[in-house]
Amino acid sequence: MNYIVETLPCLSDNYAFLIIEEEQKKAMLVDAPESGSIMDYLDTNGLKLDYILLTHHHDDHILGVSDLVKTYGCKVVGASEDEQRLPELNMQVKGEDRIKLSNLTFEIFDVPGHTVGHIAFYCEEIGALFSGDSLMAMGCGRLFEGTPKQMWESLKKLMILDPKTKIYSGHEYTENNARFCLTIEPENENIKLRIEEIKKLRSTNTPTIPSLLSDELITNSFLRADLDEVKESLNLDGHDALEVFTEIRKRKDNF
Ligand code: ZN
Ligand code: FE
Repeated sequence: MNYIVETLPCLSDNYAFLIIEEEQKKAMLVDAPESGSIMDYLDTNGLKLDYILLTHHHDDHILGVSDLVKTYGCKVVGASEDEQRLPELNMQVKGEDRIKLSNLTFEIFDVPGHTVGHIAFYCEEIGALFSGDSLMAMGCGRLFEGTPKQMWESLKKLMILDPKTKIYSGHEYTENNARFCLTIEPENENIKLRIEEIKKLRSTNTPTIPSLLSDELITNSFLRADLDEVKESLNLDGHDALEVFTEIRKRKDNF
């Protein structure tokens, strides 16, 4: 079967993702920031929505769920840990579960930090990780509920996926994130090159999402907290990765 993933801008800077099976005209949605624009896309393209996969409980990822369920009768998949604060779930999942939805297998990753019940969905067959507000393009989510240690452990689980994996994260924050990473690593040429690419994309309002894990590994300073060059750049030589990550996260909160 042939799948494509469509990136749909929602609200002011959110993204929802439609995983579309083209022959049978069936779709799965990852996060539902709103219903209107998603319904427009489904109806214009004659698609039936079978599932909604939820990464975490924040409003800007779930506000569209009830309308979409009413209209399409789709099933909702989310973290059992957050069952009480997510919309009604038809399927509850937790870290390390593997679920099969319409012929695709998704591996669930527990990725607490931004929220405590945050999960990510990895589908090897389409080479995609749906990371919500955990790993983001040149960034990671703000720590509203979890600790730096939780987020660092979460990111470490995602960093070891196939570097060719496409990272579908929940917001268009990349330009600001990139400017921040350059303050952490002013000498990193890969960051400078990526900033130029990002500027080009944004000048035509093109999403910078998905990004490639291989690009994140060389430009996303949050993933690079264990490297000597980053420690040196922050005058934190000899400190462990968690301390460096904590400092980077703190600086981003004040950026
Ligand atoms: Zn969020
Ligand atoms: Fe969000």
